[in-house]
Amino acid sequence: MPRNHQILLRSRPAGMPSLENFEMIERPVPEAKEEEVLTRTLFLSLDPYMRGRMSDAKSYATPVALGNVMEGQTIGQVVTSRHSGFAAGDLVLGQGNWQEYASIPGKTLRKLDPALTPGATALGVLGMPGLTAYVGLLDIGQPRPGETVVVSAASGAVGSTVGQIAKIKGCRVVGIAGGSAKCRYIVDELGFEAAIDHRSPEFGESLTRACPDGVDIYFENVGGDVQRAVWPLLNNFARVPICGLIAPYNETGPTPGPGLRSVLSKRLTVRGFIVLDHEERSAEFARDVGGWVREGRVKYREDIVEGLENAPEAFLGLLQGRNFGKLIVRVASA
Ligand code: NDP
Repeated sequence: MPRNHQILLRSRPAGMPSLENFEMIERPVPEAKEEEVLTRTLFLSLDPYMRGRMSDAKSYATPVALGNVMEGQTIGQVVTSRHSGFAAGDLVLGQGNWQEYASIPGKTLRKLDPALTPGATALGVLGMPGLTAYVGLLDIGQPRPGETVVVSAASGAVGSTVGQIAKIKGCRVVGIAGGSAKCRYIVDELGFEAAIDHRSPEFGESLTRACPDGVDIYFENVGGDVQRAVWPLLNNFARVPICGLIAPYNETGPTPGPGLRSVLSKRLTVRGFIVLDHEERSAEFARDVGGWVREGRVKYREDIVEGLENAPEAFLGLLQGRNFGKLIVRVASA
């Protein structure tokens, strides 16, 4: 009889999480109830938002309760189905969480066509992170040809897609990333005009030099020191989609921000957004980004970690920039 390995949230972190916050246990494989589908997890997505779910601080989403399975989106294969829309063998995208098997309400699952979303792309460039890049840049950033776009966490799932869509829209793109390998990748492979290493002591000067005409769009993925360096370079009427603030996710005290004075004097548009509010853009996103990926105009990189037991360690790495590309755990093979 197969058993179901699961990773639970054992305790809430103060500051940077550690392996002690997680626990791996074994339970019987669940049975699908009426209208449910039993799935075997193939891929589990690891994402920065999971740091928020580990905390009980007030947020837009409910935290994971202590002792519960960590939440996460998965690609699974249907084992048994008690929902008319799915049959054994189907590939499905759903909320399978950090475990090997999950029984999931069929109405929350999406059947995947491997020809349209090969491998694990439904969790990355053609999934939630890709849609985040698409709506954040196009709907909030409103890029125009010739403008300068700066994007942070630029080699990651969201940032790399933002920069490549901005290029397609005729913008000049400056990416900010940690370390020389990531910087080389975004210029040499993705075609960004410049890459600036936020860990370098010359970070601020290099960024200023790379943006001689100022910055028209800053796609904010990290906050902290990076945000403070970009902010003075913003042009009048610049747009700042606030997508993520991963740098202060693990800080315990208040973090100084750039202040509201420049928002007024430069007439900036600063707008936070959560991808869950933008599902209505999914069809256009799948058409546009799906097409660009097939044509090779949008490239993607995946960082695949083998085995559910390695998910906690990989997740801690994500919070420190050790991932290089969309972080995914291969839980099983089809
Ligand atoms: P990434 O693949 O980009 O991984 C996170 C990266 O963040 C790391 O690799 C690292 O890159 C960078 N990073 C981590 N810590 C720091 C730090 N202290 N200072 C600067 N950079 C740091 O993740 P995603 O593409 O999945 O997510 C990118 C951002 O988008 C996150 O902030 C996430 O929360 C946000 N997001 C928001 C959504 C929304 O609905 N608003 C939806 C999805 C994601 P490096 O080594 O280059 O520094």
